[in-house]
Amino acid sequence: MDSFDLIVIGAGPGGYVCAFRAAQLGLKVALVEKRATLGGTCLNVGCIPSKALLHSSEQFVFAKSHAAAHGIKLASVELDLATLLKKKDDVVTKLVGGVAALAKARKITVITGAASFVSASVIEVASRPPGATSDTVIKLTAKNIVIATGSAPVELPFMKFDGETIVSSDHAIDFPSVPRRLVVVGGGAIGLELGSVWARLGAEVTVVEFLPKIIATYDDDIVRAFTRILQKQGLKIEVGAKVTGYANGVLTAERGAEKLSFSADKVLVAVGRRPFTDALNLAAAGVELDEKKRVKVDGHLKTNVPGIWALGDVVAGPMLAHKAEEDGVAVAEWIAQKAGHVNWDLIPAVVYTDPEVASVGLGEDAAKAAGLAVNIGKFNFAANGRALANDAADGFVKIIADAKTDKILGAQIVGRGAGDLISEIVTHMEYGGSAEDLARTVHAHPTMSEAVKEAALAVAKRALHAI
Ligand SMILES: Cc1cc2nc3c(=O)[nH]c(=O)nc-3n(C[C@H](O)[C@H](O)[C@H](O)COP(=O)(O)OP(=O)(O)OC[C@H]3O[C@@H](n4cnc5c(N)ncnc54)[C@H](O)[C@@H]3O)c2cc1C
Repeated sequence: MDSFDLIVIGAGPGGYVCAFRAAQLGLKVALVEKRATLGGTCLNVGCIPSKALLHSSEQFVFAKSHAAAHGIKLASVELDLATLLKKKDDVVTKLVGGVAALAKARKITVITGAASFVSASVIEVASRPPGATSDTVIKLTAKNIVIATGSAPVELPFMKFDGETIVSSDHAIDFPSVPRRLVVVGGGAIGLELGSVWARLGAEVTVVEFLPKIIATYDDDIVRAFTRILQKQGLKIEVGAKVTGYANGVLTAERGAEKLSFSADKVLVAVGRRPFTDALNLAAAGVELDEKKRVKVDGHLKTNVPGIWALGDVVAGPMLAHKAEEDGVAVAEWIAQKAGHVNWDLIPAVVYTDPEVASVGLGEDAAKAAGLAVNIGKFNFAANGRALANDAADGFVKIIADAKTDKILGAQIVGRGAGDLISEIVTHMEYGGSAEDLARTVHAHPTMSEAVKEAALAVAKRALHAI
């Protein structure tokens, strides 16, 4: 039986980054992945393909609806969906190949197959080579085993995925034709991003959300502005509506006593993701789950079993690739007796629509609900020169600072490039910066980032380019 310092189960951004960092630190590492390619949900069916589709569909909308206003005359604009999908596939292929090449260069033993525990220190990996009629099973042992098996889309029990009409994001990144009417159940990041893609490509898209607002973790003013912008783009948004079923091309829902129905050729169910531990046989190792079936871990991502760790989407916390990556680095460092660290209070979140929405730390509504005295600084992109030049005047930056100390507690942005703009504030918060520190930092002109500086100035009611 082959023996390693570390076996990582699952090669998503959490698992492969953990393996990479451990190899950098001199450990003998095996990385086990049941998919044919590395990169996990993120690279294969998540972050990357969705962003490729968002980018291509944005180009389509520009060519169709906005190019003329820039003096660019296009004779005709047609969609070639097969090429658009191929472009997305090419990006994925390039990236997963890149991860495989890096794993090889780092001398990581990559094993393709489904892992399950035999005991706390032994796993078996089953794989079926093409053409074989039974699985080949090998056993491996290690001093440390990391569970990085990620998550899977949540299924509604009364509307199971069939891959054709009732679909998950796995299918919605690959529709072979543009659906005429697409209903998206769930107004979170994944539903809104993929809903936007298909709306831009010509589908009539309705988003049905159970909660009173879409992207419910964001402040009310951000959500109001964002909702209006999406509606202007043609998305229909129904909130406070509980989906009850789908039959004969009609999705039904209820809003209190009101009965709602929506015609739909396809229904994308994007109501969240569940931690994925299926078929891992955790019982053989004695690993405990929490009440939400996530692997239970302590503040150092250790499970209840010595030598077994877990990270990324399979444990509590935001289900985000960059959070999984940071978990992965820290676990590798802890295993190698180094000082790993993740600041789980400062994980930025982004919705990659156009405009994007981004947040970090505490929102205004949450800060006020917690009884904190805060000062708020807001600045509209409509007053930013670069935003006007770039057709990106929708939205605003908001900074939440402690009223007494001026320390920045959080920020939320709705606007073009919000996902990039938020990074500056994350860095600032990482060093415990105040709104005044940020306001006195020089920002290049003309950039959208000047709106961040102005929002920081607005915390002390001294924005220069707004009243
Ligand atoms: C459509 C979509 C868009 C997204 N967009 C973003 C985004 O823009 N930004 C962002 O931060 N996050 C995004 N996410 C979320 C992001 O993909 C996840 O947070 C991230 O992939 C989690 O990483 P992970 O390593 O924990 O798990 P995963 O990426 O899920 O990887 C787990 C891997 O483990 C493998 N595995 C499972 N069980 C076994 C087993 N028994 N044996 C061997 N292998 C196994 C799986 O095949 C999988 O490859 C998106 C998700 C989706 C679905």
